[in-house]
Amino acid sequence: MNQLTSQQATLSVPKIERIRHELKRRVLTVTTVERITPQMLRITLTGEDLADFVSAAPDDHVKTFLPAAAGEPERRDYTPRRFDRDAKSLVLDFAVHDAGPATRWALEAAPGSQLSIGGPRGSAVVSGVKRWVLIGDETALPAIGRRIEESDADIAITTIAAIAGPEEEQAFDTRARLETFWVHRPLAQATDASGLISVLDKITPEPETFVWIAAEASVARAIRTHLVEKRGYPLPWIKAAGYWAQGKADAHERIED
Ligand SMILES: Cc1cc2nc3c(=O)[nH]c(=O)nc-3n(C[C@H](O)[C@H](O)[C@H](O)COP(=O)(O)OP(=O)(O)OC[C@H]3O[C@@H](n4cnc5c(N)ncnc54)[C@H](O)[C@@H]3O)c2cc1C
Repeated sequence: MNQLTSQQATLSVPKIERIRHELKRRVLTVTTVERITPQMLRITLTGEDLADFVSAAPDDHVKTFLPAAAGEPERRDYTPRRFDRDAKSLVLDFAVHDAGPATRWALEAAPGSQLSIGGPRGSAVVSGVKRWVLIGDETALPAIGRRIEESDADIAITTIAAIAGPEEEQAFDTRARLETFWVHRPLAQATDASGLISVLDKITPEPETFVWIAAEASVARAIRTHLVEKRGYPLPWIKAAGYWAQGKADAHERIED
C-alpha cells in the first residue's frame, strides 16, 4: 500500500479562514435553463437582491426554498456555481435524479420562475494551497468546476469524478494545470466508492496537496477512511462531506472525527 507520508504529518497545516456572512433571504427570477449534459441542468437566476450577495469559497452553499405539499417550504443545499455582481446573476447547477423537491423544481423551471434562496451563511476560504485533488460525484461538480475556473496558473488540480457515462463529462475553462479522471458508473451505483478509490490509488499527491471530497455520504466517508487509514494521509489536508445520503432527503453530513 502506498504510504504517502510520514514526513507530511510534520509539515504545516493549510490556512483555512472561516468567514460569516449576514444571513439574508433573496427572491430571484430564472433567466435561462440549459441542459449542459443530459443529467445536469444549469439555471441562471437574477434579481436586485443579488446586489449584496457574497460567496467567498467554491464550496459555499445556499439553501434553496422549495414548494412543499403542505406547511413550511422544503430546503436543499446548492453550490453558487458562478456569480456576477455587475450582471446580478447567479448560476446553480442541478444534478437530475429520480426524486425530491429540488430536482422537481429544476425540471419544471423556465424563464420567469421564482426561487428563494438563503445564505451562504459562511465560507471556508483556503489560502496558499498550490495543489488540489478534488474527488466527488455529480453533486460535487459545481464546486469542483468553480474551484478549477477560479484557480490561477500556479495551481495544479487533479479531479476524480464519478458520473453516469462519457456524455456527463464537463469541460472547464482554466489557467490552472488540470488533470481530470472520470469514473463511469450508473447513478444506481452512486454508493459504491470502489471506482473512485481505484483511481485515487494510482496517484501519489505531493506533500501539502489538499484533498477535497464531496459525494454520497457513505462514499465520502469511505474515501476519507481509505486515505487516512490505508495511505496515511494527514487529516488537516483532507476535507470530506456527504452532499446527499442514499434513502434520506436533505442530508448534509460533515465528515469529521
Ligand atoms: C454543501 C452542499 C452543496 C451541494 N451542491 C449541489 C449542487 O450544486 N448541485 C446539486 O445537484 N446538488 C448539490 N448538493 C446535493 C443536493 O443538496 C442533494 O442532492 C439534495 O438532496 C437534492 O434534493 P432533492 O430535493 O432533489 O432530493 P431529496 O428530497 O433531498 O432526496 C430524495 C431522495 O433522492 C435521493 N437523492 C438526493 N440527491 C441525490 C442525487 N444527487 N442522486 C441520486 N439520488 C439522490 C435521496 O437519497 C432521497 O432518497 C449539495 C449538497 C450540499 C450539502
